[in-house]
Amino acid sequence: MPHDLPKAYDPAAIEDHWAEYWVREKLFAQPTPNSFTRSIPGREAAARLDGQSDGQSAFTILLPPPNVTGNLHMGHMFEHTESDILMRWRRMCGDAVLWVPGTDHAGIATQMLVERQIVSEGVTRQQMGREAFVARVWKWRQHYGGVILDQMKRLGASVDWQREYFTMDENLSVAVREAFVRLHEQNLIYRGAYIVNWCPRCQTAISDLEVFHEEQKGHLWEIRYPVLDAKGKDSGKFLSVATTRPETMLGDVAVAIHPEDERYLHLHGKKLHLPLMNHEIPIILDEWVSRDFGTGAVKVTPAHDPDDFALAERHHLPSINIMDDTGHINAEGGPYAGLDRYAARKRVIADLEEQGLLAGIKDHVNNIGHCDRCKTVVEPRLSTQWFIKIQPLADKAKAAVREKHIRFTPEMYEKTYFEWMENIHDWCISRQLWWGHRIPAWHCSECRKITVARVDPTACAHCGSKKITQETDVLDTWFSSGLLPVSVFGWPNITSETRADFDAFYPTSLLVTGFDILFFWVARMIMFGCWFAGDVPMPDGSKRTLADSVPFREVYIHALVRDANREKMSKTKGNVLDPIEIVKTYGTDAVRFTLASMASPGTDIAFNIARTEGYRAFANKIWNAARFLFMNVDRAAEVGITVDPASLGAMPVAEKDAPLEARWIVAELHSTAAKVNQSLENYRYDDAANTIYQFFWGSFCDWYIEIVKLRLDFGGNRVVNGTETEILSDLKGTRAALATLVGVFEAALRLLSPFMPFLTEELWHAVYNGHPPVKSIALSSFPQEDPDVTNSFAPFGLNWYHLQLLITDVRAQRKDRSVPEKEIVPLLLSSPSVGKARFFDEKSDIICSLGRISEIQFVPPEVLTNRPGARSGAVWDIDVVYEKPIDVPAERDRLSKDIAKHEKNLISAERQLGNEGFLAKAPANVVEGLRKQEAETRLLLEKARAALKNLTGEK
Ligand SMILES: [Zn+2]
Ligand SMILES: [Zn+2]
Repeated sequence: MPHDLPKAYDPAAIEDHWAEYWVREKLFAQPTPNSFTRSIPGREAAARLDGQSDGQSAFTILLPPPNVTGNLHMGHMFEHTESDILMRWRRMCGDAVLWVPGTDHAGIATQMLVERQIVSEGVTRQQMGREAFVARVWKWRQHYGGVILDQMKRLGASVDWQREYFTMDENLSVAVREAFVRLHEQNLIYRGAYIVNWCPRCQTAISDLEVFHEEQKGHLWEIRYPVLDAKGKDSGKFLSVATTRPETMLGDVAVAIHPEDERYLHLHGKKLHLPLMNHEIPIILDEWVSRDFGTGAVKVTPAHDPDDFALAERHHLPSINIMDDTGHINAEGGPYAGLDRYAARKRVIADLEEQGLLAGIKDHVNNIGHCDRCKTVVEPRLSTQWFIKIQPLADKAKAAVREKHIRFTPEMYEKTYFEWMENIHDWCISRQLWWGHRIPAWHCSECRKITVARVDPTACAHCGSKKITQETDVLDTWFSSGLLPVSVFGWPNITSETRADFDAFYPTSLLVTGFDILFFWVARMIMFGCWFAGDVPMPDGSKRTLADSVPFREVYIHALVRDANREKMSKTKGNVLDPIEIVKTYGTDAVRFTLASMASPGTDIAFNIARTEGYRAFANKIWNAARFLFMNVDRAAEVGITVDPASLGAMPVAEKDAPLEARWIVAELHSTAAKVNQSLENYRYDDAANTIYQFFWGSFCDWYIEIVKLRLDFGGNRVVNGTETEILSDLKGTRAALATLVGVFEAALRLLSPFMPFLTEELWHAVYNGHPPVKSIALSSFPQEDPDVTNSFAPFGLNWYHLQLLITDVRAQRKDRSVPEKEIVPLLLSSPSVGKARFFDEKSDIICSLGRISEIQFVPPEVLTNRPGARSGAVWDIDVVYEKPIDVPAERDRLSKDIAKHEKNLISAERQLGNEGFLAKAPANVVEGLRKQEAETRLLLEKARAALKNLTGEK
């Protein structure tokens, strides 16, 4: 029986069930709508709600695809909670909401994971071969990939699982290939040798963004390079250079000095002997050299340093790459060939020292780049890579934001975006991995030219030779994820048959994501979206402008979840909270509510479990309110009163003759709905959540339910003795109160539903006794304010406010007077306003019930001014009448002791005052004081004796 709720709220007992139900029933599947209006970003949605359009408005977001290897962490849970609240809210507001989930193939991470597996089985990737290895990764993905999506299902994310994608799906791979070929045709892709960040462990180039820097203690070695004389002989002089990576000297091609450095003017045009390698290198002059750093002379190693590479280009010097893919010295390193880079460093230092060429060693803190994936120290290294000439794409992407076709919340990220875009470098898109989209380029061994093609070629496009082999590199993972907004909706195959999705859902409405992938992903989606979508005509056949080419209209950058002490969560600190574990203890709803209650643009969250406990108690409060409600619904049914389910689902309104509390709670609900909608429009999750909390716990549970108990009168004996008509008229008030109670509760559940989807789903089905009008509360409508309702209550607002204030005062005074909770006591009340007094008199049932008062006695003001401890409000004075019962034996005991004490004091005082000698010597004021004390003691003694007499008299 749906009404028969278990006594205690137990999230574990309900959440799995509903999570599974939502997926099974495909509740959040969003078919392509037949008619639609353009999706509109958050802040303008208010205008849409005014009802300008008739078709459904599409509201679309893409889930930032987690890595297929990923596990859900607190950051995900926060991001998904924020997104889910918005999606559920929009859906309930009537939008055609589409939230597209998927996972990223995550080139490096996935390859590393599977590689580790096979190594533990005794096979290397190289031994296995490319094809078998890739097959193995696919197998892994099939069995273990996407754990995180299952976790999302359990947490109730309202995504369209029918549209789940994987970035290496066939259709998405077609898009990747088309994008590459098109950019190549447009001369925006080139191949060249440049310095890249090389990870010797992953054996691939990685982007600047995938390198994290960490300060480490190291050394600065000063090496002496012998200066050669005009004949090429050792001149006996030296030029010292400083370096943090001495092994790279094996690849030195010059030493650079500043042309105006006065210390080195005599060296202009001279040559040096490169120690250890035994060949000559020139001294070059370049203004880029900083005279203040080290010795002011800089070794030039173009193949291992980006600045040196630029320097060598300017001076037309060669680049000598001395390291192989694994970070070992190659044949170019002469006698050091085969050594690991750090072993080579040791040997180089030792050899220099032996030859007397090591001028000094200093401690030095280096800012060292590490591979984000495997933490290996990254080696800047020359290698041949594929690049995108980024400028024209970046220009469009900048224009899109500058012209406000895309907006950022918080707005400050717009500046960050521009700063990055202004300094953007060509994008190295090739990775030396096996897992990923293999670059569709074929090298010809005859003419050495490259064929790039949409369909795998069988011959070289330039010379017709069959001796072609495909490029072994794959594309950077962000290349495919950058295309997602266009590719998930069918690009590049946008035909008249397939275009409905693209027409309806592109541009997407919103992107909710973290700051950390602003450049990795957000900026690249903007660049690709603006570049490629422009070719897709608008639904009416017209040309797509930049405004409609953008991948999304708005970007909401969420904050970080930190620990309770505002520390960043990290494995090393051991303060990482596992959301799944917390959910097990407190339930998903309480965790979601905790996150929401603190979320607002630009504010990091300090996640405190005590808050989650509090919201778990909130859920419990709602559960108990539901139990109270159902108990009364069932009792009402016994006397023939039912609430028509058809009357539910809309916003409740109160009849003109309804009791004030009913009109109040209804108006309160309407204004709460207005605030919640407004807050969500502005991403103020915190305001929205706290408003609902105040309404549910404060207004509804603490006030309305307490008052409505007075109205729920099920007739009792009257049912037995009366006729049916009489019973109905007797029960009219009950019927109305029950209708308001259930109506407001049902609407409040809908208001809460985006925040606590599980609890509200459970209780909402119970409200309808298991026969709800739609399959889920998530498909019902979100409460909206009717300003007429709030306005019509306004004239009563002040009176109602005073009533609540008065009751609050009464309760406080009961505490002051230590009135036990169970005692019902009379209240003295005076009010200078006749109207107010009449109002309080009319509402005396409420005051008496909520204040635990037996009766209200209206008294003149002076009665209260004469009572110490009476309380004064703005338009009233009150006092609860409560005399503490007296414990007679204890009181007699106390009084007797007092009397004895006073008698003793009195005797002592009389003796002193009777002593002539004392009186003669003592100062006048001392004697005066003693006389006063004696009089007081006498008075106290009299009072105590009278009290004792009274006490025994009463007895
Ligand atoms: Zn690595
Ligand atoms: Zn060829």
